[in-house]
Amino acid sequence: MHELGIVYHIIRDVENVARANGVRRVSSVTLLLGEVSGVVPDLLLDAWRWAADKKPITEGAELIVEPVEAVTHCEVCGRDYATVEHGKICPHCGSGDTYLLQGQEVMIKQIETPDEEPTEASLSEPVDAPDAVDAAHPLHIA
Ligand SMILES: [Zn+2]
Repeated sequence: MHELGIVYHIIRDVENVARANGVRRVSSVTLLLGEVSGVVPDLLLDAWRWAADKKPITEGAELIVEPVEAVTHCEVCGRDYATVEHGKICPHCGSGDTYLLQGQEVMIKQIETPDEEPTEASLSEPVDAPDAVDAAHPLHIA
């Protein structure tokens, strides 16, 4: 299952970012998902629930998928158009000399941490945990 492999990549990245920031739990992960990334959001969410709940750091955490529209650029007439609608052939000039500008990304945009619950042990000093960790970087998926 393709989506499960991607989920494992995401969880590993989340673990790395959380560790680097001293975060023990995350409440949600926002993922930028390109229209032509080949990833099915529903399958990804199912795989996330299954795999994330097995890790203490992501247990119960929500995966928020933010779709990214696929856009192709035409080198001949210099215009951009919707990839899903028109494919590799430019609808403006009919050229096939085109390339994808965006729409293939599978990228963590943001990681949210839960509000710190006050405990008896931490009455003196509040734990300085970031509410949001900026983790925007591409996942390298073979
Ligand atoms: Zn064109």
